[in-house]
Amino acid sequence: MSVLPEVIAANAEYAASFGDRSELALPPARGFAILTCMDARLDPAKYAGLREGDAHVIRNAGGRASDDAIRSFVISYKLLGTREWFIIHHSDCGMEFFTDEVIRGLLANSLETAALGDQGFYDVGTGPGAREGDYIDWLTISDQATSVTEDVRRVRNHPLVPARIPIYGYIYDVKSGLLLEVPTATEVGRAS
Ligand SMILES: [Zn+2]
Repeated sequence: MSVLPEVIAANAEYAASFGDRSELALPPARGFAILTCMDARLDPAKYAGLREGDAHVIRNAGGRASDDAIRSFVISYKLLGTREWFIIHHSDCGMEFFTDEVIRGLLANSLETAALGDQGFYDVGTGPGAREGDYIDWLTISDQATSVTEDVRRVRNHPLVPARIPIYGYIYDVKSGLLLEVPTATEVGRAS
């Protein structure tokens, strides 16, 4: 059973009370952007108090500062005027449970969904898989504070990112809903 009818029905309900959202401007009204993980337990609109039109939210697996995340950040300030950025990773992130080597092996084995056990992900599918995963940097995480700091540093040092934009590093705790600052990351991300 596909979720498609549920999504279309939910959207009709949303649009029925769309109201003054039709008047929202393109640039984010509160002038900031968040890069965070795609994890289904994270809702940046709720954990950071956003409504439509407030901020840019860039999401990928891990909330990592990939080339594509940086592309979005650059558009966010250069064309749409954001002035402050957050990079928010989180506890219990799926990106902690595998390495490049592991996911490459799983994909080479089959294209079915792997299982997660005590020893990490393992393949339960039947092949064929594909080796194209060998060419992707999966940007896995071994320590959240380290990954946040590395990503803040990468964005901070990027030649297309102006020094005036502060970049704050946080970890979202999936057990409490709290945002916990990573002081070393925020220090690295300080504006000048
Ligand atoms: Zn995650």
